[in-house]
Amino acid sequence: MTKSKSLPQSFRQLREKSPKSHAPCFWIHGIDEKNTSETVEKLKNKGFSGVVLSDPRLVEKIRPSGIEIWLLSSCFRVNDIADEQSTMCMDVTGRKQVWLGGGCPNNPILAERNRDEVRKLAGVPGIKGIILDRCRFIPPVAGLNGFLTCFDEHCENKAKELGYDFNQIRKDVRFIYQLLKSKKQIRERRGLMWFKGPAGIVEWLMDHPGLLEWLRFRRDCITEHVRSLADIVHHAGLRVGVYAYTPSLAPLVGQSYVDWSDFVDVFCPILFRKLPYRPGEGCLTWEITAIPDELGVIGTSIESIVTSIMLSWTRMTGPVTDRTISALRANGIPPEAAAREVILARSLVGKNRDIFPVLYLEDPLLPETVRLMFSNTANGMNFYSYKDNWEKHMEQVAQE
Ligand SMILES: [Zn+2]
Repeated sequence: MTKSKSLPQSFRQLREKSPKSHAPCFWIHGIDEKNTSETVEKLKNKGFSGVVLSDPRLVEKIRPSGIEIWLLSSCFRVNDIADEQSTMCMDVTGRKQVWLGGGCPNNPILAERNRDEVRKLAGVPGIKGIILDRCRFIPPVAGLNGFLTCFDEHCENKAKELGYDFNQIRKDVRFIYQLLKSKKQIRERRGLMWFKGPAGIVEWLMDHPGLLEWLRFRRDCITEHVRSLADIVHHAGLRVGVYAYTPSLAPLVGQSYVDWSDFVDVFCPILFRKLPYRPGEGCLTWEITAIPDELGVIGTSIESIVTSIMLSWTRMTGPVTDRTISALRANGIPPEAAAREVILARSLVGKNRDIFPVLYLEDPLLPETVRLMFSNTANGMNFYSYKDNWEKHMEQVAQE
């Protein structure tokens, strides 16, 4: 069987729908570490053109195949120094902790560690580029205290340097913390009415300008860091990719597609329609339900109201009909809604950047999701993550 014949017909059809002139790509995150060479050949024969690896030691095994190799660099990771107080994030109550294995994005030690790692990875011969992962502040899926960070001395100093009023930011973030923690107020729906529509939110934000400043400050910090890492990668003659929060969630964690479009080559929005396991970092349904869950709304009379509000903020109230947290987590968002996030990403980054959504390989609606994303301006797919039965999932994609 020749290579072109082994590429299923529908793969070719999908590719023809791409808006870009060059052929779109299929990537896979991870690889079989035992039968690496054979697996890579199989992947190539099925139309895959790239692999994303966390372990640079695998590069030499894969390099002869000619498939594109991208190395992953995880930002602000503190797994190896988790007890180190100085690199932890501080929540709005003054408590320091490690959430999701990440530390303070403004900590100079962590920032330099990231740059060192990226320099090292960029020196590995035979790679195509570096993917930056977890370059963000702590996301909502970590819970309220984790999300409402970081208020340590590094962030305070950085805010002053950038001209932000850190006291105002802290005051208003503390206000929202206390509001949400007040279960009585939430249950009695007094705090909820403001969140239902844009007019209420605008008025509320005008009274608490520190909240918007907080989001802008986080964006400035993350943009600066991504830019510094991208400079290193480009200087080595390589391409830069990012694993990014979906456009509906990105502003909450300091990620800006618009800012990044100046120096990021490949955007990989995390677009798991659903994910069967916790914590579900980056997965929209886990991200928007974690804090309501923590605040005890499950099983109460306001669960459907809170769920509707969270969905409306992400423009999902139309396509998503579930109104309980458990159903939302179980069913996920429909492929149409996920594809709409791709259109949004495209509108933010322009025509000349690659968009390779990260999809959950074991998603039962994978074929339809892939088709819709290709027909809505994605020009590649990144399947997460490698499993021994990957061919079975890709066969289903090909049959669509
Ligand atoms: Zn900090």
